[in-house]
Amino acid sequence: MENGAENKWGFEDKQEHKAAPAVTVKTSLASIIDSVNKNDPRPVVPLGYGDPTAFPCFRTAVEAEDAIVDALRSGKFNCYATNSGIPPARRAIADYLSRDLPYKLSADDVYVTLGCKQAVEVILSVLARPGANVLLPRPGWPYYEGIAQRKQLEVRHFDLLPERNWEVDLDAVEALADKNTAAMVIINPGNPCGNVFTYHHLQEIAEMARKLRVMVVADEVYGHLTFGSIPYTPMGLFGSIVPVITLGSISKRWLVPGWRFGWLVTNDPNGIFQKSGIIDSIKDCLTIYSDIPTFIQGAIPQILEKTKEDFFCKLIDTLRESAEICYDGVKEIPCISCPNKPEGSMVTMVKLNPWLLEDINDDIEFALKLAKEESVIVTPGIYVGLKNWLRIAFCAEPSALKDGLGRMKAFCQRHTKKH
Ligand SMILES: *Cc1c(COP(=O)(O)O)cnc(C)c1O
Repeated sequence: MENGAENKWGFEDKQEHKAAPAVTVKTSLASIIDSVNKNDPRPVVPLGYGDPTAFPCFRTAVEAEDAIVDALRSGKFNCYATNSGIPPARRAIADYLSRDLPYKLSADDVYVTLGCKQAVEVILSVLARPGANVLLPRPGWPYYEGIAQRKQLEVRHFDLLPERNWEVDLDAVEALADKNTAAMVIINPGNPCGNVFTYHHLQEIAEMARKLRVMVVADEVYGHLTFGSIPYTPMGLFGSIVPVITLGSISKRWLVPGWRFGWLVTNDPNGIFQKSGIIDSIKDCLTIYSDIPTFIQGAIPQILEKTKEDFFCKLIDTLRESAEICYDGVKEIPCISCPNKPEGSMVTMVKLNPWLLEDINDDIEFALKLAKEESVIVTPGIYVGLKNWLRIAFCAEPSALKDGLGRMKAFCQRHTKKH
């Protein structure tokens, strides 16, 4: 900002007007992307952000596009919406999620949000109290750390264990929790690991959370995106053991992250949230946010009800193929290894062995040089909590993915220590 502009508002010396830094952990891929050599004639292979929409094979369902057009053309959704969402949208989400539950959610259990991101922001705002802490997975999705830090909510990390297919280290959860622990967060199917929790493990999580008297926040933004041997189980199934807040959106399963539509849902058949004031806090928090574009809300019932099974099956087949190409391709690369074949979501973690490399000391240096020399973007593991790992987003066109992995192999061979 120019000095003049700053002085005009008189903010120059007033510390309290300065925004807190977004995140202290460096998580932006901007510097990696910036190091791509502009003279490289080859296309950039973006395996950093998990945004599949860069590739034509990941186009949303025609029913979803029609739903938006119909909602717009109807002329019924040009009004302001209400804070929690318009009733038909809330009811449609309740019905959609109830398909997988032993009890029925009501429209009142659902709050619509600006993507799953805003659902994360809302729940962390609700949990933030002086002295409160939240348990987050490591590796994880760094937006949680960023928001928690802004809300001055203390973060404590529990590990996901690669040797146990990235299951939660429940002993660590037990050791970390105290009377100020407000919640534990799980992400299933997993970002960044591409793992899927079994029914049994989710039940163990629920029982541990109940013992510790903390609610579970289940980020299910990749709900139903599983393509291995473990079926997707929503955490809400265990809502009678422990109250659960489910976060989700249409961004991933419908391949429309730019539509910015998500939800926060209370799975609490015993009514604990009502008694503890959480429901009032959620409503209160939502009053300060702008409401969600009404025409998207108007389209939601049709999107959720009319999208054909065929669209989901094709998407799963494509992701399964991409995950296999990724897993098999990584096996061919000398300095990295993938401990678990991804079975869900769109990303996976691979372990880097920098000591096999001549002039690369860590994951950040690896990602920077890979971008510079091969125009391939991957996320350094440290950005998601694990040093000397890499996160690879495999939601790419198969040919691009193969191309990217081939370039990674050439890169690793070129940098391998010569004996
Ligand atoms: C992508 C993602 C989100 C954000 O979803 P949006 O609907 O795009 O806001 C939240 N959590 C995880 C784990 C994600 O990968």
